Amino acid sequence: MHRLGCTGKRQYASPEAAEAALSAMWSKCRPGARLPTRKYPCLYGDHWHITSSPQPPLSIREDPAA
Ligand SMILES: [Zn+2]
Repeated sequence: MHRLGCTGKRQYASPEAAEAALSAMWSKCRPGARLPTRKYPCLYGDHWHITSSPQPPLSIREDPAA
């Protein structure tokens, strides 16, 4: 089954899960590494993603927690 939007992206069931994933990555980071910096709710399903982009992807909703 093909689903638009988040093929191949890691999905998180809640903003808390996304935050935990970010924290885990930061705790292991090397100097200069480019790491995900923010979470955002997916447009295509009831879950969250994380991204290293400073700007949200096109037509993404704003993070309601921001
Ligand atoms: Zn998604």
